[in-house]
Amino acid sequence: MESIFPARAEISRSALTHNFQNIKERLEGQQVMAIVKADAYGHGLAEAARVFIAAGADYLGVAQLEEALHLARELEADPGAATPIFSWIYAPGDDLREAISRGIELSVGTAWALEAVSDAAQELRARGVGPARVHIAIDSGMTREGFGLKELSEHRERIAELVARGLIEVVGLWSHLACADAVDSEGKVDSDPTAAQLSRFNQAREMLASVGCQPAAVHLAASGGTLWQPAARFSMVRPGIVLYGISPNPQIATASELGLRAAMTLKARIVADRITEEEAGVSYGHTRRVAKGTHLGIVPLGYADGIPRAASNKVSVLVNGKPCPMVGRVCMDQFMVELPAGVGAGSEAVLFGDASTGALTADDWGAASGSIGYEIPTRLGPRVPRVYCD
Ligand SMILES: *Cc1c(COP(=O)(O)O)cnc(C)c1O
Repeated sequence: MESIFPARAEISRSALTHNFQNIKERLEGQQVMAIVKADAYGHGLAEAARVFIAAGADYLGVAQLEEALHLARELEADPGAATPIFSWIYAPGDDLREAISRGIELSVGTAWALEAVSDAAQELRARGVGPARVHIAIDSGMTREGFGLKELSEHRERIAELVARGLIEVVGLWSHLACADAVDSEGKVDSDPTAAQLSRFNQAREMLASVGCQPAAVHLAASGGTLWQPAARFSMVRPGIVLYGISPNPQIATASELGLRAAMTLKARIVADRITEEEAGVSYGHTRRVAKGTHLGIVPLGYADGIPRAASNKVSVLVNGKPCPMVGRVCMDQFMVELPAGVGAGSEAVLFGDASTGALTADDWGAASGSIGYEIPTRLGPRVPRVYCD
């Protein structure tokens, strides 16, 4: 059924494919795990996953186990169902049996997770399922998930034992970089924090090898690492944001400079316009006043849709190719812009999209709201229909 919602996010499949290829071409044969967490950064989990599978993704990565299950169920009947799915967030007590049965590959970076995965695998064994496929997570310096080096040395024998008992198979070793996009005082990419992480990661790798564990998939680099820390590429990279056409750090290189194409274009129809009858304050708090005779239009998207309120008064939308500045605060469901003559209710406003069209980019909105480009499509609300083109 056609949606009557007065806004839509157009997702270009060809841009997703183009961006995947852009990344693939930079590599020297490493595998690519396409990251599709958070509903593929707001672009639609299964739809984006299918595009990346068709483009040659070796793996799909999602954060939450719930997302992994959802994805596996969605892709079940697809030819691409064989593409492995990796997931790295679940909590003590979660039922891991469906995930293991479906062959979802789980991150293990704590002692409880090691036991939880092998307990579930033990239960499934009677049904002929298993071993559970795991990627050992190392905290190499992000100070987030993963075994620290001391912890790993304490638990490596247990890992080897569970492998020997056929309950787990260690198919991967991974970690995450904290400063892949760090810049030094001259604005050049700084590799020192990453070098320190690589050194810890390599120690962990040797530690595991000492108990006979040498997983095939070794992965550390997300988008920033893939682009700017080639020493961190190992056997596989895990790009997310670049696949959607957004730069991990536009201060180092913008999306256009990287040859990426914005996959999402956010459009809304102006629902009403007015010429102010007198000098007037606009929107909550009257943070802006406009003169009598100002032509204002209402854009029917607000912070409930993920339009950052912090961007109030700081961005413009494109109507008929002309930039129309936002006027006043973003409300929950709408905001106002100043319109040129000749456009009004029913005209289409482009909030963000590809820079080559003259529109602002997600990175521009990120900067205007004191955040980063990542937050812009990722926070786009479920109320906004996603429409897939080409
Ligand atoms: C989000 C995430 C990625 C992808 O990060 P991008 O910067 O979007 O490329 C890769 N790996 C992990 C563990 C992540 O959390």
